[in-house]
Amino acid sequence: MGILRYFIALWASKTVFKLLRLLKRNATMYPGYVALKICPDYLARTKKSPNVLCVTGTNGKTTTTNMVADILAQSGMRVVSNRYGSNINTGVATALTHSVNIFGKPKVDALVLEVDEKFSRLIMPFIKPDYLIVTNLFRDSLKRNAHPEYIFSILDTYVPKETKLVLNADCLQSSQLLKENKKVYFGIDKLDSDVTECVNIINDFSICPVCDEKLKFNYLRYHHIGNAYCPKCDFKSYDADYRLTNIDYENKTITVLHHGKEDVYPMVNRALYNIYNELAAISLMSEFGADLDKVKEYMHKISVTQTRYNESKAGKTEIVRTLAKGQNSVSCSRTLDFVGHEKGERTVFIMLDDLLERKDSSEFEGWIFDVDFEFLNTPEIKQIVLAGPRCYDYKVRCLMAGIPEERILCELDELKAVELMDKDIEKLYLLHDTTTFDLACELEEKMKVAFSKAYKGGEQV
Ligand SMILES: [Zn+2]
Repeated sequence: MGILRYFIALWASKTVFKLLRLLKRNATMYPGYVALKICPDYLARTKKSPNVLCVTGTNGKTTTTNMVADILAQSGMRVVSNRYGSNINTGVATALTHSVNIFGKPKVDALVLEVDEKFSRLIMPFIKPDYLIVTNLFRDSLKRNAHPEYIFSILDTYVPKETKLVLNADCLQSSQLLKENKKVYFGIDKLDSDVTECVNIINDFSICPVCDEKLKFNYLRYHHIGNAYCPKCDFKSYDADYRLTNIDYENKTITVLHHGKEDVYPMVNRALYNIYNELAAISLMSEFGADLDKVKEYMHKISVTQTRYNESKAGKTEIVRTLAKGQNSVSCSRTLDFVGHEKGERTVFIMLDDLLERKDSSEFEGWIFDVDFEFLNTPEIKQIVLAGPRCYDYKVRCLMAGIPEERILCELDELKAVELMDKDIEKLYLLHDTTTFDLACELEEKMKVAFSKAYKGGEQV
């Protein structure tokens, strides 16, 4: 009976996918939803591809998953990934539907899945990954994820013991996961920009988990990312098996040391959090047994997905559109750190309202007080445009960060803000949330027209 129910679920799932495609609808979640409704143990029953590679963690999941899937696809493997879809159980079920034929036989060589850390409970025990990258564990949306220790306990409980882990040695939280599993660590050596005392508002791991003493840091990069030790007992950060020993921003390369051998890879993106993502992908590929010379070649062709990061030009202005996840104070702080430490005079346009929640006006705004808006308090940032119905909340936060009021433009309507903002600028950073991506693209187009008009024939008009 169970097997019949499974096949009905599989066929229904495939049919729903085809129908949605015909209707030109997004078909990433609903086919899986139908499958799970008909057959609740669909994830367990579906026969898996020979290789199942997963990525989870608070930040960097999508970028890392896409890199891994792209590398494997470029190497000629047949790959199914949930790259454009949902990373919860329904999205994973949809990916499984694609990975088998109508008889339930696997038709691809590898499944590369982004898995939501909180939903791991409903996914990991059933898909049993061969490899799992945990990018990091941070404080995330309070409403959805409670606190990082809670997410830690989910992963620690539900990831199978057979799964080989690729962990971030510099993340004190996630590096402590699953003590019994086989694992390797990746990490970045001390950087010139590192400190020894936390400058961020949030540090989710400052106390020794063994003896409760305050930890000391050999170097601290941001939040709890760094290399720590306990002055009272022998607790300390793990040593990295894959050590990034050099970042060459000029030639856009990174050097990775593994087993005494150094390899130089093209740098996919210059933001440090994306360098971590690339290092995680390289470590996994090496463990997976991929030809690393080929991986270097493939890295040349990879870019961070355009929904996350994009550069374009309008008149004399360079526009950088980048994701700063709303309600995720660490992700947002990372982006503000990146924008705040860029060079040259610039404008920052911030639109981080949650479009889904603002319909009901129930968005919890407390998270912005965990975000390091202080990074934007530099005279090189000539104007900060705060746009959207919550703009006045952001203004309060910016003023608390010591940013002079005359540098702030506040506007409830995002499109109108484009008209009002200064156009005589070299560089513009457009920061958006996942839910405001489409609106950000619309604004970018409007900016291109407005900025080009304001700058005709090489002169400001
Ligand atoms: Zn201790």
